[in-house]
Amino acid sequence: MPENKKPSNKKHPERPVESERIKRAVEIATEAHKAQLRKTGEPYIIHPLAVKKILEEWQMDEDTIIAGILHDTVEDTSLTLEDIKREFGESVAFLVDGVTKLGQVRKNMNDLDTYLPETRDNFLRLMIATGNDIRVLIIKLADRLHNARTLSALPPDKQKKIALETLEIFAPLADRLNMGRLRVELADIAFSYVDPKRYDYLKKLIEENNKQAAKALKQIEQEVSDLLTKEKMEFEISGRIKSVYSLHKKLAKHNQNLGEIYDLTALRIIVPDITSCYLALGLIHSLYTPMNGRIKDYIAKPKQNGYQSLHTTVITKNKKIVEFQIRTREMHEYAERGLAASFYYNEQKLTESYKQGKIQHLPTNLLWITELQDAAAKLKEGKKVDLKKLRLNLFADKIFVYTPKGDIIDLPKGSLPLDFAFRLHSEIGGHVVGVKINGKMSNLNRKLEQGDIIEILTSKNQTPKTSWFDKVFTSHAKQKLRQMLPKE
Ligand code: MN
Repeated sequence: MPENKKPSNKKHPERPVESERIKRAVEIATEAHKAQLRKTGEPYIIHPLAVKKILEEWQMDEDTIIAGILHDTVEDTSLTLEDIKREFGESVAFLVDGVTKLGQVRKNMNDLDTYLPETRDNFLRLMIATGNDIRVLIIKLADRLHNARTLSALPPDKQKKIALETLEIFAPLADRLNMGRLRVELADIAFSYVDPKRYDYLKKLIEENNKQAAKALKQIEQEVSDLLTKEKMEFEISGRIKSVYSLHKKLAKHNQNLGEIYDLTALRIIVPDITSCYLALGLIHSLYTPMNGRIKDYIAKPKQNGYQSLHTTVITKNKKIVEFQIRTREMHEYAERGLAASFYYNEQKLTESYKQGKIQHLPTNLLWITELQDAAAKLKEGKKVDLKKLRLNLFADKIFVYTPKGDIIDLPKGSLPLDFAFRLHSEIGGHVVGVKINGKMSNLNRKLEQGDIIEILTSKNQTPKTSWFDKVFTSHAKQKLRQMLPKE
């Protein structure tokens, strides 16, 4: 979010007392769900009320909060969309409908075939299905957050399924929307169900590290505070605790070598403006030795999701390694709350397009949302959309590639042609003799890139080879290959 667009250093004013409309929505939802119980044995209304509270914490607009209160009524009670439209208007009904559809889509992905035959990519479909109002996704995220928080009430197999889906779809989605606080909570809860042993181990490791580092960290905090105060800077400084899941992912990236993880201990400094960020960075570097290649300027070059901060890792006189994250209050707010924060600031303007769920003044890194909204609107009107041109940055670690017929296949970054072939079908994977990428003959070691058109050449006489293990990246392809090789 551009710095100058936001009110500076102001805490959000309290939301005015609950409106009549919100009270009415609570009444209606309570009545509609009154015979239902949650798996926990509590009255069902606990859930929509929890979603309401989350959306209020995110400071979403009134229509979104009302839709959050009513989000399960159309699917699970006798209340109809018409009832909602009559009582609360078009916009709330539209949001409730979106959340309901999203739920149905997830239950039966095939339904989308009729909706969007242009692509077989279900994730893309999901996004476009809700894309014309991103608030649908925000309600869905609030819904998922409460369900994750109360996951312990479900039977173990359901817990695992929901936890996996949370880890694979909803936490990355929160990340794409730069809702950092939400991403951490969703990922850590889900991970504790997906791999409880690993979760406990890493959690202890982090706690242990924090305990050991506490004294040194206090001293560093003091030294930095003294210097910044001496330079008459205005600042807040605090420790930041690494989340379990992000440590897990980082360790995987660094071959489980804890010695290579430098941000286990980090201090965060919040200053009033951008100039002060660079000033603070300079002062810290005058105090400690910065590590080579560890200074990251996400202010000049924000991350894809709009995240901004200065990062630096330094070595202190006592050979302690500490990461510093320096940012303004606005950047901090945005890093924690992401898109929801954009909504808050845009609510102040209440433009016509905002009321339709369109967001003004998105940071350039979130412009894909606008593209998604435009695409969805066109599809709704029955117009053609060139999906290939639709830039999808929703998953930073995924690439979207195409078959010659134009079907979209999503693969993890780093995938190779054989991964693509095995994804299409193990029959195809097992008979690969070559690959054409973007119309040109290529080799099987070439990493696939975003937007590549891939044509797999096969021959009936070809058989899978052990040497292909060097030419596959995904565990899916490895597993298929293993199954196809003769047992030794
Ligand atoms: Mn729900």
